[in-house]
Amino acid sequence: MTTDRRETRQSGVRQWLKDHDLDALLITHLPNIRYLTGFTGSAGLLVVRPTESVMITDFRYAVQAPREVGPAAAVIIEQSSVWQRLRRHIDGYQTLGFESAVLSVRAAQQLGEGMSTRLVPTHDVVERLRATKDPEEVAAIREAAGLALEALAAVLPSVAVGDGEREIAGRLESELRRRGSEWHPFPTIVASGARSALPHAGTSDRTIERGDLLLVDFGAQVDGYCADVTRTFVVGAAADDRQRAIYDLVRSAQARAIEGLSAGKTGRDVDALARELIAARGFGDAFGHSLGHGLGLEVHEGPRLGPREDGVLPIGAVVTVEPGVYLPGWGGVRIEDDVHVGSGAAERLSGEGEPSELMTLG
Ligand code: ZN
Ligand code: ZN
Repeated sequence: MTTDRRETRQSGVRQWLKDHDLDALLITHLPNIRYLTGFTGSAGLLVVRPTESVMITDFRYAVQAPREVGPAAAVIIEQSSVWQRLRRHIDGYQTLGFESAVLSVRAAQQLGEGMSTRLVPTHDVVERLRATKDPEEVAAIREAAGLALEALAAVLPSVAVGDGEREIAGRLESELRRRGSEWHPFPTIVASGARSALPHAGTSDRTIERGDLLLVDFGAQVDGYCADVTRTFVVGAAADDRQRAIYDLVRSAQARAIEGLSAGKTGRDVDALARELIAARGFGDAFGHSLGHGLGLEVHEGPRLGPREDGVLPIGAVVTVEPGVYLPGWGGVRIEDDVHVGSGAAERLSGEGEPSELMTLG
């Protein structure tokens, strides 16, 4: 049996309420509700107070909610409107924080209409707690990453010139599901040839030609936790000098960032480790996105690694490290792995021991 962290997590919220002198925090962001209570449904509101937590959900979850939430919160099953029920529940509170990134100020005003409760916008209260992963969370991400790379390895021998991008994506997604991925945390990207130069290319009906770069960016999910990895290959021919040089540059930039990644550094510091190397070779403008993002119950969460990220990495963060070089009309290379920031050296959750050269498929 795994350790139940929900009370500890909620006490983090309660401490925050105390520090900010608020009566309660309304949590509407579902991943945050899941983190604090274990509830996996698609509709629910959670109110955390200094002495109690109450979750309001609808009749569809009458069985599931109490079972998943257990002692983590009192569950109210509302037959008609969860928002009306919430209004009745919070009537009498002087102050109620709400998650301003999720619930609009206008919606909050409507919620508080005609009541004396003051609604206070907050941000990242639960997200800040989520940025530090406990060992079970790290294990789930590691499992998801392992499963993702196994699924990819199963598909690679079948990739050949003449395949469509969608066909490859379909084979990969099927292998992911077969191996136990709960869902694809984001749409699989299979981008070939010049399309690989579009960092968020999606997947098209394009057919792969001899000598194409093939970029595959995809995820897996285990116990709600996401992995996110990218690999780049060449198809049907040995890599040419330029493909090899760009690949080696991206690989070295990634290795430099992972090596230098540690708690206490800012997202900007770590981003610079990769970016400096790429810029020094004259490709600074070709690396047009930030280096990485946190991973957890969401595929993009804090902390972020980028040129404008001043936030300090906490011990226990899990982040992607995904430098890329994209040359319009030619193609692009991105390599993305998932990394756990412990108290010492950063630890790879994906790709440990993989070959470091550009691989030819087909
Ligand atoms: Zn990705
Ligand atoms: Zn990513």
